[in-house]
Amino acid sequence: MRKRIIAGNWKMYKKMGEAKAFIAEVKGRLPNTDNVEMVICPPSPYLSELVSESKGTTLSIGAQTMHDVEEGAFTGEVSPSMLEDMNVEYVILGHSERRQYFNETDESVNKKVHAAFAHQLTPIVCVGESLEEREEGKTVERVSSQVEKAFTGISADQAKEAVIAYEPIWAIGTGKTATAEDANEVCKEIREEISRLYDENTAAAIRIQYGGSVKPENIAELLSMDHIDGALVGGASLVADSFLKLVEVAANE
Ligand code: PGA
Repeated sequence: MRKRIIAGNWKMYKKMGEAKAFIAEVKGRLPNTDNVEMVICPPSPYLSELVSESKGTTLSIGAQTMHDVEEGAFTGEVSPSMLEDMNVEYVILGHSERRQYFNETDESVNKKVHAAFAHQLTPIVCVGESLEEREEGKTVERVSSQVEKAFTGISADQAKEAVIAYEPIWAIGTGKTATAEDANEVCKEIREEISRLYDENTAAAIRIQYGGSVKPENIAELLSMDHIDGALVGGASLVADSFLKLVEVAANE
């Protein structure tokens, strides 16, 4: 039985006071359950503070990106060892916005997946097709290739601990969600790709989230699908009530 995982990707939103107020608000109201992992990925300047604010709760903190090397002359970057040092537990890698605006490639994502495991960070590896690729019938080809490249050199034991987020680019921040059936179909293909790359046990263990305009109104249907184990949520994770609703549905349905 795979444990569900709901992760909020705050992107470049909120000031420190708002971030702390959010944690204070959700803290006592998180579902008391072992069924679901709950993660907030704030902007990097707030990571350390939010790790301490959420200490002793079931909420984990994740980063939105990182560099792949320990340290060096990389102005503006955050290293995997810094995240580990701050007790950050997750890191989103290869988000389509990073791929689009910051030259993230399949190769750099792969290096970062290695670095995450070397630093006790659980990677949330994002994959997804563009609208054009979908219309040309290339969704599965694109997504399978992203998975294969991201996991090159990663062991089966590590892959079992990883999370993959399937996020069709055309559904991110647009209000357009893939139908639950379409999302499930692609998540199933991703699981089959993991089975080809490793084995059935690894494919059965890895968690696959759907992301792209997930909100309280559509999460139950998405989670009812066999291959969808959670969600990576942007907009709807910014408001405490809405994040709480998402995790409640994940815990109870
Ligand atoms: P959205 O973002 O929920 O606002 O569509 C999802 C994401 O980018 O991870």
